[in-house]
Amino acid sequence: MDGELKPMDAEQLRENAHRMVDFIADYYKSIESFPVLSQVEPGYLGKLLPDSAPDHPESLQQVLEDVQAKIFPGVTHWQSPNYFAYYPSNSSIAGFMGEMLSAGLNIVGFSWITSPAATELEIIVLDWLAKLLNLPDDFLSTGPGGGVIQGTASEAVLVVLLAARDKFLARIGKSSLDKLVVYSSDQTHSALQKACQIGGIYPENCRVLKTDASTNYALSPDLLDEMISQDISTGLVPFLLCATVGTTSSTAVDPLPALATVAKRNGMWFHIDAAYAGSACICPEYRPYIDGVEEADSFNMNAHKWFLTNFDCSALWIKDRKALIQALSTNPEFLKNKLNPHSSGTVMLTTRWIRCRQDYLQASQANMVLDYRDWQIPLGRRFRSLKLWMVLRLYGVQNLQQYIRNHIELARQFEDLVSQDPRFEVVTPRIFSLVCFRLLSPDNDGDKGNKLNRDLLDTVNSTGKIFISHTVLSGTYILRFAVGAPLTEERHVNEAWKVLQDEASKLLATIQNN
Ligand code: PLP
Repeated sequence: MDGELKPMDAEQLRENAHRMVDFIADYYKSIESFPVLSQVEPGYLGKLLPDSAPDHPESLQQVLEDVQAKIFPGVTHWQSPNYFAYYPSNSSIAGFMGEMLSAGLNIVGFSWITSPAATELEIIVLDWLAKLLNLPDDFLSTGPGGGVIQGTASEAVLVVLLAARDKFLARIGKSSLDKLVVYSSDQTHSALQKACQIGGIYPENCRVLKTDASTNYALSPDLLDEMISQDISTGLVPFLLCATVGTTSSTAVDPLPALATVAKRNGMWFHIDAAYAGSACICPEYRPYIDGVEEADSFNMNAHKWFLTNFDCSALWIKDRKALIQALSTNPEFLKNKLNPHSSGTVMLTTRWIRCRQDYLQASQANMVLDYRDWQIPLGRRFRSLKLWMVLRLYGVQNLQQYIRNHIELARQFEDLVSQDPRFEVVTPRIFSLVCFRLLSPDNDGDKGNKLNRDLLDTVNSTGKIFISHTVLSGTYILRFAVGAPLTEERHVNEAWKVLQDEASKLLATIQNN
């Protein structure tokens, strides 16, 4: 066994992990040499790897060689400075080290006692972030609400929907599930639809309200009001409104104050999804986009998108944590302790831990500790607050604000470049760091214009030089250029624009020649 990798050994960890860090650092050094969008065919990897796991250990060197030769071709390089697709998913040195530390400790922090620091750091860091976003005090842990790290915005909206659903059913009766209605716009992320499916909301009670260019694809409070009145008149119960600040398609911002008024007048739960744009609101000049959050029941932003915190880290704040806990807490036998079989907050502990457990029971009963397992779907949870804490401490607020502002400025510059080329148009007003634009069809034909832009997207992405994505707004195919990768600089934006112009020229020339 000598020389072979043990399950855990401090010196072997040191040596191997150093090599891995070197490997990853080299990856970042050469990241621009890879095609940004993976160019492999489906099933490529099965042809390169054996059919079964090895009987005997292989070396780290062999594995790393395979990563280089076989895995990297199938990687789309989200951290490339030439990545402009979807929304960013930031990695940073601080976030990476937080992940390392979390992996190193590898705790499973489902309740306070399973690692008090995990729960307490999460509470503290989410309070810090709430203050940075200037969220209302009701979202702080010092009141009846608080923050929690979910894996994704999808999980956040799901737990919120379950909390709201059960709060309403407790009032109107369990058998009224078929009466509960959810409201959102046609620009709301599909995560809400998934939450409705999981939460048992009747599909015919999911109101997806139409938006158009007249509101820049934001939800109209009048339309919402009208729909709610109609539903109430037929005996239905409006229970949840999901607004978005920074929609996935085009960064539309729903008018929170007016929507909040409608939601509150009808006694509904008001959730705000700011998965992408929430990060920008740490800058005072962008904070007005979440004005109205004071009236929300829950608010969510993904630190793993544009806040230098490695995936996954989705921050959710809620005003009434009791609602969440009531919907999600369970009291299984294996989590009870012998002395207090009715306790819902402790784990079975050995005698060595008895004193600690008694303290914990007292603390739990006095409502001094939280058990985050009751705020989420799974039982087990990672020590994710470490990376957010490290990001906040190692960069500091001013640098984080500067980071956001720089990306927004780069997006503004790209928007200028597009505006200066009469062959293109900017389609929706740019608000944050996403530019929605398209190549104009020479003969002004809608279908041909859509095909032209689809072709442009394909040719541009198949160069491997940049990666952009698309959306469809009011039936029009639109290209999306989202700035937000940590390594992106002005030169990358300029070069990306050149790639787009060159490929557009080639496409337009082919059309002219046909
Ligand atoms: N909400 C918005 C506005 C988004 O842009 C996204 C993803 O891009 C999501 C929700 C879903 O995010 P997640 O992958 O964290 O569930």
